[in-house]
Amino acid sequence: MPMKSRGRVITWSPSVTLVPTRACFNRCAYCSFREPLPVATGPTPSPMPLLDDAAASEQLARRPQAAEVLLLSGEVAPHSPQRPSWFAGLMRLSRLALRGGRLPHTNAGPLGLREMAQLGRLNPSMGLMLEGLGPAYAALHRQAPSKVLEVRLQQLEQAGRLGIPFTTGLLLGVGETRADRHEALELLALLHATWGHLQEVILQPFRPDGEAAAPLGAAEAAPLLELIAEARQILPAEVHLQLPPNLWPRDLLLDAIAAGIDDLGGLDTEDVINPAYPQPGPAALAELLGSAGWELRPRLCVHPRWIPWLPATLRTAVEAAAQRLPLDG
Ligand code: SF4
Repeated sequence: MPMKSRGRVITWSPSVTLVPTRACFNRCAYCSFREPLPVATGPTPSPMPLLDDAAASEQLARRPQAAEVLLLSGEVAPHSPQRPSWFAGLMRLSRLALRGGRLPHTNAGPLGLREMAQLGRLNPSMGLMLEGLGPAYAALHRQAPSKVLEVRLQQLEQAGRLGIPFTTGLLLGVGETRADRHEALELLALLHATWGHLQEVILQPFRPDGEAAAPLGAAEAAPLLELIAEARQILPAEVHLQLPPNLWPRDLLLDAIAAGIDDLGGLDTEDVINPAYPQPGPAALAELLGSAGWELRPRLCVHPRWIPWLPATLRTAVEAAAQRLPLDG
């Protein structure tokens, strides 16, 4: 299949991850990130365990070169009495990031229309994985109400209606069929054709964490290389295809790029979801890519094409952050 031309540039985002809370009402079968929500012992809701400004500022200070602040949170049920304080925490941390000259990118599960609109005024981009469709995902998400396909699609459409530059993606290798993958890509293409807001699609290989951690083997990577090429054919060229480099075999990274990957996502010093898989440093990635004539270039959380979509105050913040984009991480 001929590849669409993308130049010889691969991007990545110098990033720092803040976790507002690990407490989550979902119970995804594979999750090693989640902690249980606090249980109310009286008539008033138990306070949410939320990252405070002092601890967040300390984490930000440890990574001054990170322009992107990924707010990656456990979720609170839509009508829970704990929801308002949880949401206020996301707003507070977004403001903290902006005050420090950083750009927040929130990924905190499904949001109400008002919630998404409010966060969209503080976040130059936001994200939510579609994850996938079919029986394999349904089995993993039996106890995860926010992972129902209809909810995910509604969220992606809502982001499009609100004009929020958006990152989504697929979790791959959980037992889904080729047809399931194809259908998921077609749905994303349709959403993007309607709203034009999908700036990135992450193609994320599922890897077990903890003691079961194991790098992806060549045999497992082969069908994913085919999927990358298929995604590049189905999705228009402006939709960047992203691969988390710590979850992919280093000796096959150039093959993934040849197949259509053009972005390596936000790189912090650690992957908080998959801590057993160390992040490669940008210098090592640049050297590997350079050996094949690719340039590794830092970017902001919002890609240039979507900057004109942003409200004026956010555009100003983005322009200021762009001036300070580091050349290495
Ligand atoms: S929604 Fe996220 S944090 Fe919550 S259980 Fe699922 S994977 Fe874990």
